[in-house]
Amino acid sequence: MDSENNNQTFKVLVIEPSKSYQLILSELLSSHGFDASCVKSGEQAIQALDKEVFNLICVAMELTDMSGIELCERIRRIDDTSCNLPVVMITSEEDKSTLVDALKAGATQVFKKTDINNFSTFLHQFAWNYSQRSALTAEILYVEDSPAGAARVCALLQNLGMKVDHFTTAEDACDAFEHKDYDLILTDIFLEGEMTGFQLVQKFRMDPENASIPILAVSGIKDDSRRIELLRSGANDYVAKPVLDEELMARVQNLVRTKQLVDQVNEHKRYLQEIAMKDQLTGLYNRHFLMEVGPKKVQEALRHKNALSLLVVDLDKFKLINDNHGHSVGDEVLEAVGRLLTSVSRKEDVAARFGGEEFVLILSHCDAENAEAKAEEIRKAVLELKPAGLDISASFGVATCSLDSSETMASLFTRADEAVYKSKENGRNQVTIAEMPSNDDTEITL
Ligand code: GH3
Ligand code: MG
Ligand code: MG
Repeated sequence: MDSENNNQTFKVLVIEPSKSYQLILSELLSSHGFDASCVKSGEQAIQALDKEVFNLICVAMELTDMSGIELCERIRRIDDTSCNLPVVMITSEEDKSTLVDALKAGATQVFKKTDINNFSTFLHQFAWNYSQRSALTAEILYVEDSPAGAARVCALLQNLGMKVDHFTTAEDACDAFEHKDYDLILTDIFLEGEMTGFQLVQKFRMDPENASIPILAVSGIKDDSRRIELLRSGANDYVAKPVLDEELMARVQNLVRTKQLVDQVNEHKRYLQEIAMKDQLTGLYNRHFLMEVGPKKVQEALRHKNALSLLVVDLDKFKLINDNHGHSVGDEVLEAVGRLLTSVSRKEDVAARFGGEEFVLILSHCDAENAEAKAEEIRKAVLELKPAGLDISASFGVATCSLDSSETMASLFTRADEAVYKSKENGRNQVTIAEMPSNDDTEITL
């Protein structure tokens, strides 16, 4: 049943003098998953409200000690919570003016005893709306200079589970916006301070980074063309003053929900991009990413005549680690080397796992001398790493871009890879610097 979403049981206070009608209502309520407490009089109702928290009040028109309308007025005066509590009246009264009086006194809705199906539909929707509301938490930036209006709207939004930062000037709101992520900006148009809500909307929309943050404008502007202008400058929606609570809540919830859905999609997109370019074991970039970005880096270095070096790192006798200690210890070693390579890389460098126990580093703005020093630094750090308590070492091949227009990622990689083999042949745990290409052998393909 909807009302049991989020494990929520709704408590209903029924004020009804007739025992048999109490029974009918209790059964209807419980069939929707609501938990009914029944009393006969207005005074008993006030006492019950003092002791317990209810989600809904159901009141008859005639009570033993006062009218349902009087009780409604009293409930609305108790405090902010009771002020926002839905109070429905169930009556056999047909007189229109009495029904209007009930709504004026604060009844949320009036249902006829003869048409109990309507009440049943209301209960169904109530439970559904409530579960939707309680599922939504959001940070709201609210700009309103009228203290009374602001207090009411803040209470409404907080009741929906939202956090509200309220400011009376657009200038203060802009400052707050710099320091926090918001799900919605709710702004009045005429404000204290120099800046109007209209200018605030324009300012937020000037920065494309704010594009996904919805703006809901609230104002007493009667002029249609100014309202349209406001929407054109980037407000997503508009509520006219005097604000209807339910309308405001519905618009806020719609905007927040859409924003949060867009956030989820973007987050998922970022995640997919991340797993497409990263190696899961080490967290380094994968071979696919290296082959996509490497050629661009080489081209860029050639165009701007910037130094660029490529390091190939191959762990020594790694097969023995797997054979002697098992594959999971082998993985542990690879992870530790991954962390080391990440920690020694600069932001603009690319550290990638090229294959099994072979890694590649592309070092931007790094000439042969610096690349050799970097390779030496990593070689020593690998010796000190002792992952899973094991002594490990690695062999290095270093190639530096010739800044000759025929240099490519493939030619650079091939030279570094050949240099690694020389390191292996010469006894491992060492750095070999590849020779610069002569003009006739730069056309190597990978
Ligand atoms: P050399 O010093 O000549 O480089 O010897 P080596 O043993 O390091 O090189 P070789 O290429 O013979 O062996 C590489 C080993 O790396 C073999 C393979 O089982 C292991 N390996 C590759 N990928 C992984 C992995 O993801 N996890 C683990 N645990 N081992 C891997
Ligand atoms: Mg190896
Ligand atoms: Mg290898």
